[in-house]
Amino acid sequence: MIQNPQQPTVAIAGGGLAGLAAACALADCGFRITLFERRPYLGGRASSYEHPGTGEVIDNCQHVLFRVCTNLVEFYQRIGVEDKIRWYDEMTFIEPGGRASVMHASPLPAPLHTAPSFLRFPFLNANDKLVISRAISALTLTAQPDTGRSFLDWCRQHRQTNNAIERFWKPILVSALSEDLDLISISYAAQVVRESMKSPEARHMGVPSIPLTDLYNRAGDYIRARGGEIRFRAPLESFSPEPSDVTVRVADIDEHFDYLVLALPFDTIARVLPETSEAAPLREKLTHFESSPITGIHLWFDRQITDLDHAVLLDRTIQWIFHKSRLLLTRGAKGPSDSSGSYIELVVSASKNLIDKSKTEIVELALKEVREFFPAARDASLLKSTVIKEVHATYSPRPGIDAYRPQQSTAWPRIFLAGDWTATGWPATMEGAVRSGYLAAEALTRTAGVKSPRFISPDMPASGLMRLFN
Ligand SMILES: Cc1cc2nc3c(=O)[nH]c(=O)nc-3n(C[C@H](O)[C@H](O)[C@H](O)COP(=O)(O)OP(=O)(O)OC[C@H]3O[C@@H](n4cnc5c(N)ncnc54)[C@H](O)[C@@H]3O)c2cc1C
Repeated sequence: MIQNPQQPTVAIAGGGLAGLAAACALADCGFRITLFERRPYLGGRASSYEHPGTGEVIDNCQHVLFRVCTNLVEFYQRIGVEDKIRWYDEMTFIEPGGRASVMHASPLPAPLHTAPSFLRFPFLNANDKLVISRAISALTLTAQPDTGRSFLDWCRQHRQTNNAIERFWKPILVSALSEDLDLISISYAAQVVRESMKSPEARHMGVPSIPLTDLYNRAGDYIRARGGEIRFRAPLESFSPEPSDVTVRVADIDEHFDYLVLALPFDTIARVLPETSEAAPLREKLTHFESSPITGIHLWFDRQITDLDHAVLLDRTIQWIFHKSRLLLTRGAKGPSDSSGSYIELVVSASKNLIDKSKTEIVELALKEVREFFPAARDASLLKSTVIKEVHATYSPRPGIDAYRPQQSTAWPRIFLAGDWTATGWPATMEGAVRSGYLAAEALTRTAGVKSPRFISPDMPASGLMRLFN
């Protein structure tokens, strides 16, 4: 803790994971935090709210993490919600018609641990498996810098079959990176593959068992317990850097802080930047970012349609199913009225082709596909439904984009950036957002001259044969 009786003050704009991570880390070091959030709740793009049309509390979209997300896992431990994450070591792939195949780890050392179940997949033929195995070796064992070409180009160059692309690479990478393969940079694709192969635990998937805002409200409690303040419906309008402090304008009122962390999304930050030459390079970088949409389709059935908690769905528009009524710990008064019913969420990443469709069209399409995958859904009645289109869900991980991701330090010594789009080495994920918040907090404490702890957690160590290639 800082010993100075006059605690240094930090304004944080943005109550998403980046802002919350920075705030918690800095509050722990004795900084006095005031967090300004435009909305009336925390969590940003990972949040939940009572949906007016259905009366249900829903997540804006299902969010999952993997064990390799070491900073996010540490953040959950820090705010005391690690027991609210359910971990799964199996992943089920379902074909239209309902045939299911399960990927799980064998006793073989990494990266061979999933080979036995992969080799048994009936939806890939022997040649598909051969070319995929070669591609995984190339992506895992050799550096794959951003060459300016897309991952789809790379697949063609590495003789990936159509089946391998459609039934393996698309399901894995489109949902991990929220973009189509022809727009994904090779370096991002390689990172996903390498991280997931480094040990058997790396690909264990975590799913929150409580609504997202309940999860992240605990970060709000953590900040308040350390003397901080959260202000809702308080959008930052502008700021001006002064030599000895920062003036922050919120609701037409100026306040002074020692430091400012801008934890805003790339598509809104330009609105608060000053029209000065110092801001010009950041403004220029922002022009290179594009966003990619994700659509969540929420369906409530009158009966159980599957006993799976989640699964990857092949060959159709919908890519994942999450069985929310099985995943959520408590349903509470607002949950599905019939306890034998199924509440499911279907997720479509990079959902450009759904953006112009109406809710009715999307629900009809989803229902048709669900009934192909889950025969029990054919007799089930749909009680209610809703569709949440997140048009600006994530930044698009296109070839070349990394060159434009800014560091957390800025042209102004007292002002720092955080957000999943800043330079973290990770794609647009909760892990990337938490890393950015911790990196901003590290940069700020260095500037403040505080002998600071390191906030960033070490990466998950490789195990088995992967240790030879790390
Ligand atoms: C539909 C969807 C599905 C996703 N699925 C996953 C997943 O499964 N796994 C995963 O790891 N990641 C997933 N992501 C990505 C993940 O949600 C984001 O990477 C992460 O939440 C970004 O956090 P952030 O703090 O950088 O930004 P944000 O969450 O966008 O936070 C920025 C905050 O700033 C606030 N704000 C904006 N302007 C102002 C202002 N002027 N003043 C004050 N506050 C302001 C916003 O209201 C927001 O709360 C998904 C995202 C979406 C949208």
